[in-house]
Amino acid sequence: MKKIAIIGCGISGLYFANLLEKSSEYDYTIYEKRSKLDYEDGYGIQLSVNSIKLLNKIGFNNISDHEIFNPRKINFFDAKSAKKICKIDISKFNYDKNYYTILKRSNLIKFLLKNIPEEKIQFNIEVCDIEYLEKIKINLSNKLNEEFDYLVVADGIFSKTKSIILSEEKKVEFNNSVALRGNIKNYEKEDISLYLGKNFHFVIYPVNKNKEFNFISIIRKNLNNREVSDGSLFNDEVFLKSLTNEIYSNTSVQLEGKIENIKSFPIFVSRDLNIPNRKNTYLVGDALYAYPPSFAQGASQSIEASTEVFDEIKNNGSGYYNKRIKKIKLVNWRSKLNHFAFHVSNPIIVFFRNLILKILVKNNKFLEIYLGNIYRN
Ligand SMILES: Cc1cc2nc3c(=O)[nH]c(=O)nc-3n(C[C@H](O)[C@H](O)[C@H](O)COP(=O)(O)OP(=O)(O)OC[C@H]3O[C@@H](n4cnc5c(N)ncnc54)[C@H](O)[C@@H]3O)c2cc1C
Repeated sequence: MKKIAIIGCGISGLYFANLLEKSSEYDYTIYEKRSKLDYEDGYGIQLSVNSIKLLNKIGFNNISDHEIFNPRKINFFDAKSAKKICKIDISKFNYDKNYYTILKRSNLIKFLLKNIPEEKIQFNIEVCDIEYLEKIKINLSNKLNEEFDYLVVADGIFSKTKSIILSEEKKVEFNNSVALRGNIKNYEKEDISLYLGKNFHFVIYPVNKNKEFNFISIIRKNLNNREVSDGSLFNDEVFLKSLTNEIYSNTSVQLEGKIENIKSFPIFVSRDLNIPNRKNTYLVGDALYAYPPSFAQGASQSIEASTEVFDEIKNNGSGYYNKRIKKIKLVNWRSKLNHFAFHVSNPIIVFFRNLILKILVKNNKFLEIYLGNIYRN
């Protein structure tokens, strides 16, 4: 039986473990740095049909109907005036029983954990060193070591395991933007509402059918290295207030007093692709590549990558990284373009951006290329 080490118990590591559970050919262990997973947070995650198709293969279609929401449209608004610019019908990309889906992140993690036996996950453990012998020998922070046939690195954007494997790692960089997250109850609009402002955008969407909504804003911010690495800044009341005020004073949407559990954090993105030249070693999810979050594809791409690694191991293949690089490039330029277009501030450019948006959302050929090529392939 082949032995596989999975580093990180996030979306990509857990999805990969679910694929292994469906096969009797593999033994595996997940090593997770944290002492437990977070089931409490009410923040949302959007999953497009490319990942829903894969999640349905492990039983996601049986998830309780009141825990999810299937949006039909993305409605674009001008944040200042709250006037609608245009809409995209994203339901046109749904097919068979695969629907664009939103849910709480914590419910996605709970679902992914359902089929994983408890003893498969070892908490409070990190990788300290890796030796490539006949097998892959992993030295762990509990002073023990273990040998594996395959190593799947799924420890997220600041992957320490990747740094151990790669001699010349290109680190992630601060994207000059900060995320502000919160929950809203009883928002009046259904579907996904995307508000475009001057140097910021925010999105409000339902996370289930119980009138619970997610608020997420990406705000451009130039911070120096010290500020970015100072974790306390992002929990600081004054800093949080300055971020919320920036939004409240630049939108006529009544948000003040409505957003609960507000949290902020800096956005980091990958600068380059790091491909390890090591046998049977696979990077997946954010450990492989982290995109700007303006295209909501990180989790969906993590699930796709885990599927591809599973297929490669099963079929003894070799094309994982070549295939992934192509998809990363497609997702990355769209994420960057969205990030840029959502934040333009010059009124003339805003006028033309809105005009172009209105034209493009009616152009089926464009939508097929821009969204369909990512959602359907
Ligand atoms: C603001 C924001 C909004 C987003 N919204 C969406 C969205 O709507 N849709 C979408 O598809 N994507 C979204 N994303 C992206 C998505 O969240 C990520 O791409 C996805 O969570 C990556 O999954 P992962 O498993 O690779 O990493 P993670 O989910 O980060 O999991 C990594 C795991 O590894 C563990 N770990 C870390 N270091 C170690 C270590 N050294 N040893 C062992 N374990 C370790 C961590 O504790 C964690 O459990 C968003 C991202 C941001 C920043």
